[in-house]
Amino acid sequence: MRKKISVVVPCYNEQAALPLFFERMKEVTDKIDADFEYILVDDGSRDDTWGMITYWVNQLDNVRAISFSRNFGKDAAVLAGLRESDGDYVCTMDADLQDPPSLLPEMFRTLEQEDYDVAAARRVNRKGEPPVRSALSDTFYRLMGKASVDMPKGARDFRLMKAKVVDAILQMGEYNRFTKGIFGWVGFKTKWLEYENAARSTGKTKYSMKKLFGYALDGIFGFTAMPVRALYMAALFLGAAAFGMLITMLVQICAPSIPFNDLFLILFCVFFTGCVVLCGLAVAVNYLYRILSEVRCRPPYLIARRLNSVPRMPEPEPEPELPPEEDLPPEKPRLF
Ligand code: UDP
Ligand code: MG
Repeated sequence: MRKKISVVVPCYNEQAALPLFFERMKEVTDKIDADFEYILVDDGSRDDTWGMITYWVNQLDNVRAISFSRNFGKDAAVLAGLRESDGDYVCTMDADLQDPPSLLPEMFRTLEQEDYDVAAARRVNRKGEPPVRSALSDTFYRLMGKASVDMPKGARDFRLMKAKVVDAILQMGEYNRFTKGIFGWVGFKTKWLEYENAARSTGKTKYSMKKLFGYALDGIFGFTAMPVRALYMAALFLGAAAFGMLITMLVQICAPSIPFNDLFLILFCVFFTGCVVLCGLAVAVNYLYRILSEVRCRPPYLIARRLNSVPRMPEPEPEPELPPEEDLPPEKPRLF
């Protein structure tokens, strides 16, 4: 049966990029044996992106669109688009053609013919980007590499997923959404396709350094226990320093030839107090981290496939029994 592919496109001030986007997509989708639908999400644009979207909704019969009341960010736009999608496969891609549509045929072939649930894109270089931005991004991916989620260097949000993967992503109801982390967290068998960085078709990036820094923090706090571990490490470091001061003082006491230096006593008190305070803080933060894990309500597991296995359904709740009509209390007269 011919498959349907929903393409989710977050748009923030992409008025100029949309005509180029549809032009390029037409060339590519004509080569793929599947039906396409586009779900455009206008993320509170300040230009006339919505006017342009309306134009395309009227031009093509496979375009649907929603518009946010204000700018909520790309991750919210992707979530809204995924919620609207109903294709057998769902693709998330940017409007600015930095996610090369030419990868789509290979992504489609991968899901059709190979044993993968996701075909995702990863850029192998960041040509054309300021070096500071690239260096910071490399550091971020190195840090995230330590997290338990699959997020290789250069991972993009550009991917084609089977519907079951989208269902899994939609089970993640968290507010602070770090889409790349969520994609990695849900797992499923993913094939990474590599490509060279492409320049934006038009306009400039919506991510300032400040916004990127906040985004990186979302990733670190949302998908790693790094901040908690850093506190424990700092407590350990101060504890070791206090122990060093203690040994030094003992040596001074045991060897009368060495004069006792009060500085070591002061340093011992400082390091020891610091260590005790940090230990207490680390314990408290650990509790907070656990509470956060609970309130996020992430599913404890996700099922990828079943063999001869049917999920146990909960018993339906019995209908509440109504008392016979004559036992009902008489209706009170309305006073006003
Ligand atoms: N975007 C969005 N909301 C925002 C910022 C960006 O929907 O607040 C969209 C934007 O229109 C584009 C995609 O997210 O389709 C990626 O944005 P951008 O190209 O600025 O990011 P970069 O490629 O530089 O990471
Ligand atoms: Mg871009």
